[in-house]
Amino acid sequence: MVLTGKLLFFIIIPAIVLFMQSRLALADDTWQLDDSAELSDAEEMELGKRVDEYIRRQFYFRNDPELNKTINDIIQKLTAVSERKTLTFTCDIIQSHSINAFSAPGGHIFVTYGLLKFAETEDEVAGIIGHEVAHASLRHASKLYREFMEILSQRDKGTDSAATLLLFNCHLEEFEQEADTTGVLYAHKAGFDPNGLPDFLERHLNLLIQNRVLGFLRFGSITTIYSRIDHMRKYISSLTLKE
Ligand SMILES: [Zn+2]
Repeated sequence: MVLTGKLLFFIIIPAIVLFMQSRLALADDTWQLDDSAELSDAEEMELGKRVDEYIRRQFYFRNDPELNKTINDIIQKLTAVSERKTLTFTCDIIQSHSINAFSAPGGHIFVTYGLLKFAETEDEVAGIIGHEVAHASLRHASKLYREFMEILSQRDKGTDSAATLLLFNCHLEEFEQEADTTGVLYAHKAGFDPNGLPDFLERHLNLLIQNRVLGFLRFGSITTIYSRIDHMRKYISSLTLKE
């Protein structure tokens, strides 16, 4: 699989979605989680390992010790102020010119080389990584996985899966917004400029509009990104007002 134009637009998409799509096609995958409501830490780690292995089969990785060190330093600062300090975060650079980042459960983060080249400041990189650290800290991928399995079981029972899928999409947006504000807060607490993420998204969106990449996409996608940027800007001004 390659990062398509459509995925490129969803700069930050949980890797779990890619993984779940692949699971639909895997009839011989016998690994199953039990049916309890919340994933245990061990189950989350196992899920993370599975997603990580899946991602590693899909992409080529770039080995750049200097760049890896810069990213790891940023991760250390961000996790020190996060809620799940016990998670060991790793970040790998995908050899791709597209602009994308995503994370797997348990602290695996992936960014493309194209994203790192496009970022103008360390604050922007911290904004992107902060968003991914927030996804992991808030256990979003595990929650999405649980919901996805629910959709599959309802589909088997013949209930209206379109309605369930709609709910799933709403949750995706809700999680994005939650990861935006939490990530911005981490960046702020860690001493970075919290405007890094909205600045990055704005520049990227402008680039896509300039290149008319958005011509292929729904208008709704543009407004979603604009509303995310707007939401973050308001949150940041409330943060700085408190000081
Ligand atoms: Zn996200």
